[in-house]
Amino acid sequence: MKQEVKLLIDKLYKTQELTKEEWVKVIKERDEESAEYIFSLAQPLAQKHFGNQIYTRGLIEFTNICRNDCLYCGIRKSNTNVDRYRLTLEQILECCKEGYKLGFRTFVLQGGEDAGFSKEKLAQIISTIKKEYPDAAITLSFGEWAYEDYKLWKEAGADRYLLRHETASEEHYKKLHPSDLSLSNRMRCLQDLKSLGYQVGTGFMVGSPFQTEEELATDFLFLKEFKPEMIGIGPFIPHHQTPFRDKEAGSLELTVYCLGLLRLMLPDVLLPATTALGTISPMGREQGIKAGANVIMPNLSPLSLRKKYTLYDNKIGTSDESKKNVEVLKEKMKAIGYELAVSRGDYKKMEE
Ligand code: SAM
Repeated sequence: MKQEVKLLIDKLYKTQELTKEEWVKVIKERDEESAEYIFSLAQPLAQKHFGNQIYTRGLIEFTNICRNDCLYCGIRKSNTNVDRYRLTLEQILECCKEGYKLGFRTFVLQGGEDAGFSKEKLAQIISTIKKEYPDAAITLSFGEWAYEDYKLWKEAGADRYLLRHETASEEHYKKLHPSDLSLSNRMRCLQDLKSLGYQVGTGFMVGSPFQTEEELATDFLFLKEFKPEMIGIGPFIPHHQTPFRDKEAGSLELTVYCLGLLRLMLPDVLLPATTALGTISPMGREQGIKAGANVIMPNLSPLSLRKKYTLYDNKIGTSDESKKNVEVLKEKMKAIGYELAVSRGDYKKMEE
């Protein structure tokens, strides 16, 4: 490893901060040794805070109908091959029931931006889940809406919201999205969510088309300033029915490198080893944990519909019942010295 890179990693570990130029350097000039060095600092940092517990969130993909046309996403509205569905309240409750039995104490309702879903209906779903499972947290991951909508859902009982910023560079944002979507509205949403008291998760795809090291540096600077409770990053993976079908996928190597850097920058942040990471490599999620990740989000959606929520090709976890997937995951975690936590897994500030 270059001495300069080592010094930057030491600086990040000590001060939790780098300048833009330093971020670019630490990413551009990385090698196997610098990665190993980062992981040797990041994994103990995660263990100091979370022990050997991996927080879990049960993912319920409640609608694949979307009004947006993000160029990377398999469920974009222009993809006419998608068989669209929307879960009923009863189907969602069934997923929660199964999830609760399996030990989940957070339910993530994720969906395309389904404008046909009434705001009130979603509020009713949230309050019904809360009534049935008062000890569980509810996370929404439902895209960009007005302040008033976010407020309604918060009052109905939603605790957290995941909304990846996707890229903090205006220029890059435009290359990934159609012209009716803007980084400024994405940022407005994130600010609204924070001001309403949600625990907020944001993040980006690693290796998305046109991404440069400078853009990644901008992502790190933005995340440092915004201080989300959670950061979701995963490799970009092409979907064969999108305009990015021929683009290269993000790499496991760069994704885990970024996870390690994020853990050093924000030692107490919640950091998932994502499904996309598990999709590009069979041991991807384990490697993510060794790089400092501490959260896993298995799928609780009805098995018969899972293949219809295909954001990218070859997504894992779509063939087996939730119970089987959780059993396999428990074994995988045990093999690397961890266990799945049965708790809400809230964000907690790290004691100095
Ligand atoms: N509609 C909501 C939103 O925009 O936040 C939530 C659902 S959206 C499908 C969830 C995330 O999937 C996005 O934030 C994006 O980062 C990720 N995603 C979409 N297409 C992907 C792809 N081809 N490869 C990797 N991740 C992808």
